[in-house]
Amino acid sequence: MERLKGIGVSSGVAIGPALVAIQRTQVIRFPIAPDRVARELSALDRARARSHDQLVQIRERIAKGKGSDLAAIFDAQLLMLDDPMLIGRAATVVCEERVNAEWAVQRALDEIAVVFDDVKDPYLHDRKGDLHDVAGRLRMNLRDEKGAARDLLQDLDTPCVLIADELTPSVVAQLDWTRIRGFATDAGSRTYHTAILARSLGVPAAVGLHDLSQRIPPGASVLVDGDTGDVIIEPSAAERQEAEARARLRSAPAVIRTIDGPLQTTDGVEVTLQANIERPEDVSAAVAAGAEGIGLYRSEFMLVGGPPDMAAEDEQYHVYRQLVEGMAPRPVTIRTFDIDERQLDRPLVDAALDARWFPEQERAQRVGHAGLRGIRFGLAQPHIFKTQVRALLRAASHGPIRIMFPFVSSVQEVRTARMLIDQARRELEARGITAPPVPIGIMIEVPSAAFTAPLLAREVDFFTIGTNDLIQYTLAVDRTDERVSDRYEPLHPAVLRLLRTVRRGAARRGIPVAVCGEMASDPLLLRLLLGCGLFAFSMTPGALAMARRVVQETSAAEMCQVAKKVLALATVDEIERPLTESFATVSK
Ligand code: PEP
Ligand code: MG
Repeated sequence: MERLKGIGVSSGVAIGPALVAIQRTQVIRFPIAPDRVARELSALDRARARSHDQLVQIRERIAKGKGSDLAAIFDAQLLMLDDPMLIGRAATVVCEERVNAEWAVQRALDEIAVVFDDVKDPYLHDRKGDLHDVAGRLRMNLRDEKGAARDLLQDLDTPCVLIADELTPSVVAQLDWTRIRGFATDAGSRTYHTAILARSLGVPAAVGLHDLSQRIPPGASVLVDGDTGDVIIEPSAAERQEAEARARLRSAPAVIRTIDGPLQTTDGVEVTLQANIERPEDVSAAVAAGAEGIGLYRSEFMLVGGPPDMAAEDEQYHVYRQLVEGMAPRPVTIRTFDIDERQLDRPLVDAALDARWFPEQERAQRVGHAGLRGIRFGLAQPHIFKTQVRALLRAASHGPIRIMFPFVSSVQEVRTARMLIDQARRELEARGITAPPVPIGIMIEVPSAAFTAPLLAREVDFFTIGTNDLIQYTLAVDRTDERVSDRYEPLHPAVLRLLRTVRRGAARRGIPVAVCGEMASDPLLLRLLLGCGLFAFSMTPGALAMARRVVQETSAAEMCQVAKKVLALATVDEIERPLTESFATVSK
């Protein structure tokens, strides 16, 4: 038994056999039944044959052109492909450890790579890159076997708990979540996108567990507590019972004091609560939780793992229409694709991209979050942006839609994006389609946007503050990096001052401002936001009941006094004290 401490990000307890996924190489280790071994071996054989044909073709193409020297590289790769240390060893791993072929190839590669590390000859040492290339090709060809991951999941005797170093939404989308009880990752923080997705899937999850994925022995069982962040490898019977009992207690429904009419604070200030969702099917959870609309639909999730034509205008139109009709007459705010470079390895996006902006090798290397993402991506790829806008404008005939741009950092970006919207509207008109006027807003999630809120407010119809990113960029703390997660501080004076600037900027032009970051789903922070004069929020549907109760028990005027006081303080500890004291009085 071993207990590790992470951050609980999605409530509940999951217990089951561990399924280990290494996202660095995107390889998942699946234990397989004895009668599946032969299928994995023939899949390995087919992948080897396909890789062989591809390498021969590449070599011939290059040899015909200028680079016969280069062609020799592929001769070497062909030899590596047939080397028993790679394929032979992988086949042995499949048989002996009863794991999937893709994992076995990765294992064989890791073993040979160690040998290469010790080689002094610089020529041989440099061949390590080729070896990685060959193994990568084999894995790609194995993964191309249709539905391989789903198939392997279905084959597991019992649903499992997924343990990964890192989990991107594209891996999440490959998985069948009815077969996964929960997950834990080495990386991550509360605002990690996959953590957000876990909450919307209702799957218990913990993140920020450092080297958990390396510590799990094959076949181990594991317990993930999504509230405390604890992960126990090989839990005892007593630990299982205790965790399950705690989970049952926590999931007892919150008692909500219901009232007629709009939601108000104790002193009569009206507050709007909407839902953040990632998938169209989450609309029912939002409605059931009493959301007054969708404040944030993260549209980019529909690109991840979707069918290849998902980016087509008609496909998007149907999704948006389904959303608006499901929520009608409540409004739906759809943010244009907030794709970042991490998500660009997908064939669907690749096919549509302009290669000038995304050279293949660079893309693989860059994993920062301040690159070509959000509205920058839309402006760099206007055809993708306009396709989305046309679909949105068409769906607007079926109910109230608002369009929102993510990751805006300047007025110029807003103007260019609005110009593209006008163009998209004209393109529809040329097809005989007239769309109703649609409010255009922006996310305030980059410090430059927050500082220039008064200028941006002249250009748009509404603001939504994305505190997840705003905190990350203001404090220069990567929200996916568990090593600095203790520095990710919503109560930092810089964050609070920026929130005030944004609220004032919006008020000066009389445009509405809402908060859609995770900050609003923490009761203590929600009260502070109310005190800062912010009265519209959008959050995961699961947090709405809590938020409603907090609003009904809070006096906006009293919190305004607390907010004034804390805005003059210098450290997080100093700020936290009066806040906690004010909370203690209401929570009695
Ligand atoms: C945010 O940044 O606060 C936000 C809501 O957007 P996301 O979490 O999708 O980056
Ligand atoms: Mg964001």
